Amino acid sequence: MLYCRFQSRGGIGWGLVEKHQVWELSGDYFSPFEKTGRSFPMNDVRFLAPCQPSKIIAVGLNYKEHITEFGRSEVPSEPVLFLKAPTAVIGAEDPIVLPQSAGRVDYEAELGVVIGKKGRHIPEAEALGYTLGFTCVNDVTARELQKKDGQWARAKSYDTFCPVGPWIADGLPPDQLRVEAYVNQKAAQLGHTSGMIFSVPKLIAFISSVMTLLPGDLIATGTPPGVGALKTGDTVQIFVEGVGALRNHVVEET
Ligand code: MG
Repeated sequence: MLYCRFQSRGGIGWGLVEKHQVWELSGDYFSPFEKTGRSFPMNDVRFLAPCQPSKIIAVGLNYKEHITEFGRSEVPSEPVLFLKAPTAVIGAEDPIVLPQSAGRVDYEAELGVVIGKKGRHIPEAEALGYTLGFTCVNDVTARELQKKDGQWARAKSYDTFCPVGPWIADGLPPDQLRVEAYVNQKAAQLGHTSGMIFSVPKLIAFISSVMTLLPGDLIATGTPPGVGALKTGDTVQIFVEGVGALRNHVVEET
């Protein structure tokens, strides 16, 4: 299924995408739901970020080749976690705003995991049962500030630095997906989740040993090699196999 949040003339709703139509749901998809019977052509709605996370847990250095890209060689023995501010979330087609004070800003294509039910100390073997599904995430990063600050809160959390969407797809094998970035329609990252150091079930088990995961929480699972800078006027698309493409335009701060 493809789960979405959308805005139509009737307001904001939760829905399922089927055959180019958005079918409105009675409530959100983190509790039992049914269709209301109303539907909208896809082209008549605006897709909003498909979850409103209480927190975004992101994983650094989860692909070997991305570690090499930064001139490092040691593979982490445990996942390297950081947080992105929930207020950084935007949806498909929303602009990424380049802050004047931020220096170089990079795209990072990532598989996003959306948590479907509350969990703590989730066993690896049960981890996928705690997911609602998967989505595209662009872990936008102010690269110079990341290095300068030594910790990453500022570099990762400017408003608009977390495009998510356009919807959530369930039933995908999270270790068998292409994860790609295109800038102005040119391939920039051509990764595959089989290259992850820590698998999605391992990440869920590890993160939930630290903090309670809540429905709607988002895990950004790390980026494959090929990151690069964005500039005003660019269009960046993150593609995850089985989900689709998340497109955003880059604008200057005014
Ligand atoms: Mg990242």
